[in-house]
Amino acid sequence: MNAKVGPGDLYRDRGVVLRTYKLRESDRIVVFMTEEHGKVRAVAKGVRRTTSKFGSRLEPMSHVEVLFRRGRELDIVSQAESVDPLTPLLSGLDRASQGIAVVEAVDQLSMEHEPDPGLYRMLVGVLRTIARDPSPLNVAAFFWKVLAAAGLAPVLDDCVRCGEAEGGDTATQLVAFDLDEGGALCRACRSGVPVSAEALVVMRDILGGRLRQALELDSSPVTHEVSVLATRAMEHHLERRLRAVSVFERH
Ligand SMILES: [Zn+2]
Repeated sequence: MNAKVGPGDLYRDRGVVLRTYKLRESDRIVVFMTEEHGKVRAVAKGVRRTTSKFGSRLEPMSHVEVLFRRGRELDIVSQAESVDPLTPLLSGLDRASQGIAVVEAVDQLSMEHEPDPGLYRMLVGVLRTIARDPSPLNVAAFFWKVLAAAGLAPVLDDCVRCGEAEGGDTATQLVAFDLDEGGALCRACRSGVPVSAEALVVMRDILGGRLRQALELDSSPVTHEVSVLATRAMEHHLERRLRAVSVFERH
C-alpha cells in the first residue's frame, strides 16, 4: 500500500514517539511507531524553537495523530495532535523509566515502514497501564507478551528438554530457566540460570490470562527475578534477530 505513495504525498497515521534526535539547529528527527506504517522516521521542523507549533507533543512516549508529508529520504511531520494525555508518564521516575524501557524495546523490535499493528496496540496498551499504575511488573509483562506474540512463549509447565510435567516432588520440580532451550528445566536437565517456583507462578499468570493478578504484586525479590528474566529473554531475542538479519544481508 505504501508503494503508491510518492514524494510530496500526505498520509495520516497515529503513532507513539519512540525517540527524537537533533538534526539541524532547530529541527529534530522524530521516530514513531505508527499503527499502519510501522516505524517512521520523520523531520519535525522548528521543533527546537520555543515557538514551535508542535509544542511538547513530540517528546518520547507521546501518543499523537500525525499528518506526514512523504519526502525523498525522510518524511516530514506536517501536523501533530495529541491523542492521549500521557503526562502522568513524565511525572515520576518509576513511570518514566518504565516508559523509556518499553519505547526502546519497540524501537529495536520494529522495522521502518513495515506495519505491525499488533505491536503498536501492545505499546499503546502498556503505556496507558504505566500511566495509571507503575506496577513493578509492567515492563516484564510487556516483554513476555511481545515474545509470546512472536511465537516465543517460554515453556513453563513441563521441563523444556525431557518433557517431564512438574510434579509435587523434588525430582520433577522445575528449577532452572534456559533461554537457549526456551523455558524451564527439571533438576536432572537443568542448565541456564536457577529459577524459583514463585517466579514461575508469576510468569504463568502473565502469560496465562491472569495479568491483572501479576500487576497487583508489590516489589519483591520475585518480581525482580521475573523482570531480570524478561529483560534477558528480550535481549536474547533481539540479538538473534540482529544476527539473522546480518546473515541475510551478507548472502
Ligand atoms: Zn527434564
